[in-house]
Amino acid sequence: MDTVAEIVAAVKEGNTTARAVAQEVGRRLATPEVQQLNATLDWSQEVLDGDAARADGAAAPGPLAGVPIAIKDNIVTIEQPTTCASRILQGYRSPYDATVVNRLRAAGALIGIKTNLDEFAMGSSTEHSAYGRVLNPLDHSRVPGGSSGGSAALVAAGVVPAALGSETGGSVRQPASFCGVVGVKPGYGRVSRFGLVAFGSSLDCISVFGRTVADAASVLQVISGPDRHDATTVSAPAMAAPARRQDLAGVTIGLPKECFPGDLDPGIRAACDRTVGILRDLGAEVRDVSLPHTPYAVAAYYVINPAEASANLARYDGVRYGQRRGDGVDVGTLYRTTRGEGFGPEVKRRIIIGTYVLSAGYYDAYYTKAQQVRALIANDFDRLFREEGISYLFTPTTPTVAFRAGERTDDPVQMYLADIFVAAVSLAGLPALSLPIGRSDGLPVGGHVIGPQLGETELLEIAAVIEGAVPATEEALP
Ligand code: GLN
Repeated sequence: MDTVAEIVAAVKEGNTTARAVAQEVGRRLATPEVQQLNATLDWSQEVLDGDAARADGAAAPGPLAGVPIAIKDNIVTIEQPTTCASRILQGYRSPYDATVVNRLRAAGALIGIKTNLDEFAMGSSTEHSAYGRVLNPLDHSRVPGGSSGGSAALVAAGVVPAALGSETGGSVRQPASFCGVVGVKPGYGRVSRFGLVAFGSSLDCISVFGRTVADAASVLQVISGPDRHDATTVSAPAMAAPARRQDLAGVTIGLPKECFPGDLDPGIRAACDRTVGILRDLGAEVRDVSLPHTPYAVAAYYVINPAEASANLARYDGVRYGQRRGDGVDVGTLYRTTRGEGFGPEVKRRIIIGTYVLSAGYYDAYYTKAQQVRALIANDFDRLFREEGISYLFTPTTPTVAFRAGERTDDPVQMYLADIFVAAVSLAGLPALSLPIGRSDGLPVGGHVIGPQLGETELLEIAAVIEGAVPATEEALP
């Protein structure tokens, strides 16, 4: 698979056409190996070809001319259904395109591939899809991570060079880690949420997968920046292009001790230790630091997230969107039947938890408390970045490598714990990314780099330096 830069250069120089790229992607998607992954919920050669024709016909080729970019199926598109991998939205068509889709198309990208996910992006393994689980392309018995597992799998399998996912609490960084690709979550509000189906509105961020840091960066650059359709986008201009750096001189990297517990998986620890050695060799100053409230991040996240989810998902009532069941009796029956049959078990669990923590008797004990913890978590980061001279933080992305399918589906808490290192960053709204730093038991290990507010460009610059220094031999992906 060519990189984003290679495709754009080839199209610009006339060595290929967007049309030829679109045809090639279609061929790959149709192969039994790719079909077997169950990574797509819908793909359309017609849409790919239509975008290719526009890209080939453009007076000046855009920054993503001819680049196929798969889209997680909780991002709305006019030309294809948007299902959020839920039965309740089966066949749903949006009357508008998401801002990110418009921006990608305007840059010459080829849309047309909608990827599988955990239902409404709730999950860490892409096993909670109403349309079946996604296979990890590196080991089919394992999960690709989630909830953006379909996008991660297509990038890891070399079908597309980049894809969009969404993050509420790690759903791009965690699958990137499990599939051995790069996953970048921008800071909250850096990318428009207009057209991203709402899950946890104070947390949701459209995020990017790439096979390389540079590929992910070029996509993020195109989609970032203020949008008049989303009042929560920050007014700062779109992310600037990362410059090429040679080393990490002058950079201070903190290692939060809470993210390297004594019982950390030995394979993960070994890959992290080696990477810390690389950071030092590159000239960074590496310091032990503390984020004292991060041990409470998963607990706080799994109160705030269901609370927001329960409110956001109230709109699926059989009247306004998607499927309608139990019509013609009374409104209670309509709601109960539509939601009872339309939602899967994890979605129901979140709605029940969310309505519980928001109920009059428990609001202060759970929701208010979780919001207070969230503020403490954000302050921990702030203190390190603003007062203690830390430029970036480095942690493992996940506590284990990709786990086996079925291993955690009956134990929601074990599933939630896959988010232990990524959830705090989402609560604090910071930019962060995962990049491959080695293997453990033959499976990819992700390194997690966290930066300060509005620091996406510099974060990607230093990630590219690390990427270039991680030994390529055993890490080389198929
Ligand atoms: N695993 C987390 C959850 O289930 C993350 C979801 C996400 O980031 N969309 O909520």
